[in-house]
Amino acid sequence: MPSIPASLERMASPRGSGSGVRYFSAMPFMDNDNISRLVSRIFPILIGIVVMGMFAARGCQKGPFGRTQIVQMSPEQEKALGAQAYHEILSRSPVLPGGPIVDEVRSIGRRLAEASRDPELRKKMGIRWPTNFDWEFNVVRDRQINAFCLPGGKVVVYTGILPVAESDAGLATVMGHEIGHALARHGAERMAQQQLAKIGQLALAVSVRDMDPQKQRMLLGAFGAGAQLGILLPYSREHEAEADHIGILLMARAGYDPREAARFWVRMSKATSGNKTAEFLSTHPSHERRIANLQNWLSEALPIYERSDKVRPSLLPLGS
Ligand SMILES: [Zn+2]
Repeated sequence: MPSIPASLERMASPRGSGSGVRYFSAMPFMDNDNISRLVSRIFPILIGIVVMGMFAARGCQKGPFGRTQIVQMSPEQEKALGAQAYHEILSRSPVLPGGPIVDEVRSIGRRLAEASRDPELRKKMGIRWPTNFDWEFNVVRDRQINAFCLPGGKVVVYTGILPVAESDAGLATVMGHEIGHALARHGAERMAQQQLAKIGQLALAVSVRDMDPQKQRMLLGAFGAGAQLGILLPYSREHEAEADHIGILLMARAGYDPREAARFWVRMSKATSGNKTAEFLSTHPSHERRIANLQNWLSEALPIYERSDKVRPSLLPLGS
């Protein structure tokens, strides 16, 4: 029998007293314990990757402007969640019962909603899914400079944003932007991303379960920050730009001058300049980038505006 070199012999014969499956070592410097530890680390990560892949593939669809988007819930489920959240918010907010400003918000809202049904515009925006929204437009007396549209077309405008909006076209800009988020299903997409990040985090937690707690916390913290900076944040910036793009097309189709969009965002940036965050950490694109994008999209929006049933520009009835 020819003699076997010592290193090969080590590779061929399992060593170590580790319990469970014994592995033949392809790496002579690793004993069985090390290998089973490595496997128990990698295995949950692999399972996690497979589950994440299946999850992503199931919800993968062609999203706004032709990009790939992952959403898990149906538009109907989204709509039900939106309606529930809307009524909860309204039930604990000082909702204006009526008056000139409420009329103005509703009139702009109706025009934007109508624009969102235009088949040609929907094709341009890449909105292929049904959006049978039950539109509602309400004004809440609150100093915050904000507005939102929940899935299903549930819109709130806070009185704090009205002096910044200044005119009907300014208000159409912000409402168009918020409606853009809802049409593009950004809420559902964000939920799917967070679920994906959770699956990844769970896989990592299983993989490092036998490490000392401090190391575990460090690794999981790093994963959380990585997911935030690497996935969730870039997406939310993309969502912002997409909502701007949809917004400017909707306002143009609804008869509001799309050149007012950039002017509105300049005023918005001045009004909110106190709470500036560095751009790479912010969910909003930088002011300059936003204005540059809006100028670019004018080449699409202006011809739509020219063909639209134009609204006579007016200032908002503030102080009423
Ligand atoms: Zn936004």
